[in-house]
Amino acid sequence: MRLSMFHDARSRGVLSAVGIALERTYGIEVREALEREPPREAFNARRRQFDASALLNILAREGRRPFLWILSPDIYVKGMNFVFGVALFGIGAVLSTHRLHSLDLVRKEAIHEIGHVLGLSHCENECVMQFSNSVAEAEMKPSELCNECKNKLRKMLPSLNFE
Ligand SMILES: [Zn+2]
Ligand SMILES: [Zn+2]
Repeated sequence: MRLSMFHDARSRGVLSAVGIALERTYGIEVREALEREPPREAFNARRRQFDASALLNILAREGRRPFLWILSPDIYVKGMNFVFGVALFGIGAVLSTHRLHSLDLVRKEAIHEIGHVLGLSHCENECVMQFSNSVAEAEMKPSELCNECKNKLRKMLPSLNFE
């Protein structure tokens, strides 16, 4: 499986670390990253945030699956003040670095969102698939999958080759 990565100009610095983490965690191949700014049409001027679902839909329509789009502005989905990222199973994910102040957090949330893309749900174990509602919660969870999630993935996607 090959993941297409997209990023805005300000997120270039995190790409290689995120790519390496995703390859290591999931055994997926990360394609060369393409620079792509979020379009104005997905910006909510009242909230001063980008609509993460609109961004997802833009890339989903282009059919390059799975994808990860890393952006520096803040993003939201309806009903939430903000999200770190949002994912569609089998399609792709959008991740915002806006509130993730360290490379470690960006990497962790990227692993989390791609877990959703590959079919994992939230997990209650000591696991990167724990739901985090704040930076503090994101900092506390590990950056690795628990064994239960690894086993689920192996069953769902036997072609993936990870440890
Ligand atoms: Zn999640
Ligand atoms: Zn887990």
